[in-house]
Amino acid sequence: MEASISRTDPILVAGAGGFIGGWLVRYLQENGFAHVRAVDIKPLDEWHRVLDGVDNRGADLRSLDACREAVRDVAHVYNLACDMGGMGFIEANRAACMISVLINTHLLMAGRDEGVKRHFLSSSACIYNVDLQRDSDVTALREEDAYPAMPEDGYGWEKLFSERMCRNFHDDYGIEMRVARYHNVYGPHGTYTGGREKAPAAICRKVAEAKLAGRDEIEIWGDGEQTRSFMYIDDCLYGTTRIMESDIRDPINLGSSELVTINQLVDTVEEIAGVQLKRRYNLDAPKGVRGRNSDNTLILERLGWEPSTPLAVGLEKTFSWIYDELASAASPRRAVAST
Ligand code: NAD
Repeated sequence: MEASISRTDPILVAGAGGFIGGWLVRYLQENGFAHVRAVDIKPLDEWHRVLDGVDNRGADLRSLDACREAVRDVAHVYNLACDMGGMGFIEANRAACMISVLINTHLLMAGRDEGVKRHFLSSSACIYNVDLQRDSDVTALREEDAYPAMPEDGYGWEKLFSERMCRNFHDDYGIEMRVARYHNVYGPHGTYTGGREKAPAAICRKVAEAKLAGRDEIEIWGDGEQTRSFMYIDDCLYGTTRIMESDIRDPINLGSSELVTINQLVDTVEEIAGVQLKRRYNLDAPKGVRGRNSDNTLILERLGWEPSTPLAVGLEKTFSWIYDELASAASPRRAVAST
């Protein structure tokens, strides 16, 4: 890591009970950060990891008072807290997604008042103009494609507004801002069931469930020809901390540029699982945009790096984690223990 943030600086990870936040707390600790505060609205026993030596707290960061408590004596904030999920969730919960603006607003206001020096916002590729994403044969999205704005309704508009707030909090109050536009992040400990899961985890779960139950068919949302790129969690953590420690003030893409169709994603998971399944295409299911990829020209120019874990490598680890979770949940020993 570059030297602009000291290992002794106190850091807040907001949303630390979630997928990326949980991994980030561990990554910071492993990289020598001695004072990490971890905050999430979820009870601690629902976090995917609660680490010793970390100041772990439960709080609802939609409240300004809770944000003041969370940022007190903290130098830098990683804001990963958000009420979100995959397409199935964000298309059905547009208003709820917009309410995350309270987290972003109050964390910025509290940070301004309590002397936070640097703030990281986890934005999203959903801020990009939907009109540029109507074809599966996509032109990868560049940072300047955000405007003129016509983002994903709800979730995307909230993220774009919050990006603007970061910019204006920097201009008016001098707080250093870093904004990464994540493109689809996946890996072990990501949500894989319950309605908030995203495509890689959902496909891994469906294939694992079919394999465990001896079924030969899975459902695919849409016709399977929609295109996406997927970033493995290790790349996300490395990129997030590099961006935080850089001097990049404007929003920047953080995503893989390995473009695949959903059918190709399924092919890869089937190969890992050693099965071949019939695909039942549900054309009425939420599908999101038709095609999306990350243009990594800027990140390559600024950091000399881009996310590069091959999809097959990341999916292998993700599938095996989800498969083991499902297999152990189904095992008689576990069933007896939980009764
Ligand atoms: P996640 O849902 O696993 O984690 C978000 C965490 O925020 C959850 O643990 C949730 O409990 C917490 N949270 C929600 N409301 C809160 C509140 N009021 N107070 C405190 N905590 C609250 O999601 P994730 O995948 O880890 O995403 C982290 C961030 O990255 C989010 O801002 C998300 O929008 C962004 N992002 C993620 C992806 C992706 O593919 N995972 C893609 C683009 C952007």
